[in-house]
Amino acid sequence: MLVASLGSGSAGNSCLFESDGTRILVDAGFGLRQTQQRLKLLGRELSEVDAIIITHEHGDHVHGAAKIAAKFGIPIYATRDTLEAARLDPRKLSARPFENNASFRIGELEVHSCRVIHDAADPSCFVVEARDGTRAGIASDLGVVDASVLAHLQGCDALLFEANHDLDMLRTGSYPWSLKRRILSRHGHLSNEDAMEALARIVGEGTRHLTLIHLSERNNHESIVRACADDLLSRVGVRIDVGVATQHAPMSPIDVVRRSKKGQMRLF
Ligand SMILES: [Zn+2]
Ligand SMILES: [Zn+2]
Repeated sequence: MLVASLGSGSAGNSCLFESDGTRILVDAGFGLRQTQQRLKLLGRELSEVDAIIITHEHGDHVHGAAKIAAKFGIPIYATRDTLEAARLDPRKLSARPFENNASFRIGELEVHSCRVIHDAADPSCFVVEARDGTRAGIASDLGVVDASVLAHLQGCDALLFEANHDLDMLRTGSYPWSLKRRILSRHGHLSNEDAMEALARIVGEGTRHLTLIHLSERNNHESIVRACADDLLSRVGVRIDVGVATQHAPMSPIDVVRRSKKGQMRLF
């Protein structure tokens, strides 16, 4: 399976998953032209995309969805509450509602959804599974990581996971207090510390790739996140390729190959 973030952060999120000829985008937070340009850098076209799956209705995840879907006739998959909250009109678009905590198929890919805790109507994280069992998980915009999300993301060969902010940078930074409170709340975003704490319970022997996503441009830095991830991996004792998705450019695609057919051992 090939996985590539087109860009990630509070100004836009979209991630390509591709296997056996099926291509899906998780989120369409960039406008039509931006999405086209970013896909082109990866050697792909919007006309080749089979589906857009939406995690939740916030603009940085849904901004370009309606236009892209209408122009290219791409079906949009989202929960009914997310469709409604995002004002994605099922009469105008090819909308395919799904339930959280269930699975659905798009071409050769199986998508497993799980509800997350965030200030949105019915937000989701996903595990995308290829025909040969290769699994890639994506989760961002989490206030806290509950037990069902932890269990859902275990056993993935590749993970894209939120590391939104450095606590000190957020606390001492220039955001208004109301926004700081929202980010820090149970329905906000994960700090680097909280992300690493959760990842210590999620990653295992079978995890090959970890990409940290949705970094705050004002309250975080790639070097801090990388240091946190290095610390996590030495604590957990596994070797994993670590990447950090940026806001302004797509990342190099990750070629995800299934390492463990027996599934993973949990380390904690
Ligand atoms: Zn977001
Ligand atoms: Zn959000």
